[in-house]
Amino acid sequence: MLSVRFWGDRGSIPCPGPATVKFGGNTSCLEIRADERLIIVDLGTGVRPLGESLMATDLKKNGVIDADIFITHTHWDHIMGFPVFTPIFIPGTKIRIYGPVSFEDDTLESIISAQLSYRYWPVRASELAAHIEYNQIRETSLDLGGGLTVSTKYLNHPILCLGYRFEYQGTSIVTAYDHEPFRNLFPTDPADPSYNEEAACEGELAAAEENEKILRFIHDANILIHDTQYTEAEYARHLGWGHSSYEWAISTAAQANVKKLVFFHHDPARTDDQLEELEKGYCTANRNMEIMMAREGLVVET
Ligand SMILES: [Zn+2]
Ligand SMILES: [Zn+2]
Repeated sequence: MLSVRFWGDRGSIPCPGPATVKFGGNTSCLEIRADERLIIVDLGTGVRPLGESLMATDLKKNGVIDADIFITHTHWDHIMGFPVFTPIFIPGTKIRIYGPVSFEDDTLESIISAQLSYRYWPVRASELAAHIEYNQIRETSLDLGGGLTVSTKYLNHPILCLGYRFEYQGTSIVTAYDHEPFRNLFPTDPADPSYNEEAACEGELAAAEENEKILRFIHDANILIHDTQYTEAEYARHLGWGHSSYEWAISTAAQANVKKLVFFHHDPARTDDQLEELEKGYCTANRNMEIMMAREGLVVET
């Protein structure tokens, strides 16, 4: 069985404090389990408490921590927890890190391990006890063995960002953050001096095609974890920032026949009270689909 536990659900920057205790203040980190097998998605600050939990569970039980870690993209909120992930200091730990890079001369290893240099941190990457393997990936499908597969899809974000689709024993968990709808980048108003009818039509078609590809990627997912940093009204003021609205996530998930939709990548400025209000409004918006707000500690099974 596939399951996901949320250790960090915030976008952009950690936001601890009395106003965020219910939903949590840590940035992106998911613990996915395919039965016993461990998959981690993103190394946001939520990976610190996950690391402590693994020390008490996997290390005790198996004598070793073994994980496949998938990074959606290298924005800081998605990698900043790595230096405090305790298993990297434990001999015997085996981790394989997968993720995309936007510029080939910046390797995945150099971006992530640069955080462990004396400029930023008292321990250097070369001093880590764990065995760490880096794999730069793009749009692809990988067989992870034991019946577990993952496929990836380019999302719409200011840098190269991947959605992940994990499949195991006929069930699936899909991530689609940090992401916003693809849209026409050419002017569509004939009154605009730079309006060009042909370009406007092509732009519409290209955007529709890319959004269609996302629909196919998430189709029939048991669990979809989707970006919902904004409401639709807020999104109108943040076009091009690379994040979606609740409305978009619901309509996309419904069209794709998703079973369970989880709202994710909450705006760091959003308080518990505000998220509860949004939860009341949006989590009942579709009868055929279970909809929930990610919060630290939430576990969802396929
Ligand atoms: Zn982010
Ligand atoms: Zn980002």
